[in-house]
Amino acid sequence: MPIYDYYCEPCNLNIQIFCEIEERHDQTCEKCKDFLNQMVSVFANTPARWGDSHGYFDRGLGCYVANSMERDKIMKEKNLRPVSQNELDDHQSAVDNEHTQHEKEVQKFSSVLKATGDFAQATKQTFPDHHPLADPEPFPLGSDLGTIETKTTNKDNTP
Ligand SMILES: [Zn+2]
Repeated sequence: MPIYDYYCEPCNLNIQIFCEIEERHDQTCEKCKDFLNQMVSVFANTPARWGDSHGYFDRGLGCYVANSMERDKIMKEKNLRPVSQNELDDHQSAVDNEHTQHEKEVQKFSSVLKATGDFAQATKQTFPDHHPLADPEPFPLGSDLGTIETKTTNKDNTP
């Protein structure tokens, strides 16, 4: 699903929307409910060297690019090296994969959460390889606990 750039005149706002290609002309402003002007329309008649008629959001450049000519121009302005079609394809499929992956994670997360009602469990099952909020190391019992207490006591008694 591509990202499209819009401009709302009444609100004087630039807005980015993720939507299907067929839905790109039917987007409305969340604030004023006015139909949005798709910014890419400015470039709609510019011949696109890659046969990409709707343009795309270029994360590398951090802006919307209608076609290769537009991109070349921005690259020149920013003094950036050219990127090959392969790199662009890789980039695009990486973006697509990332998006698919994200959708899968959202689905997984909500289904586990629904089934268990356990937020931590849903996180754990959705991201088995990541433990950004993992439980701390099990609290040391027995002799280890004694060590900690001793250390604390010593520290407290230090003048
Ligand atoms: Zn608006």
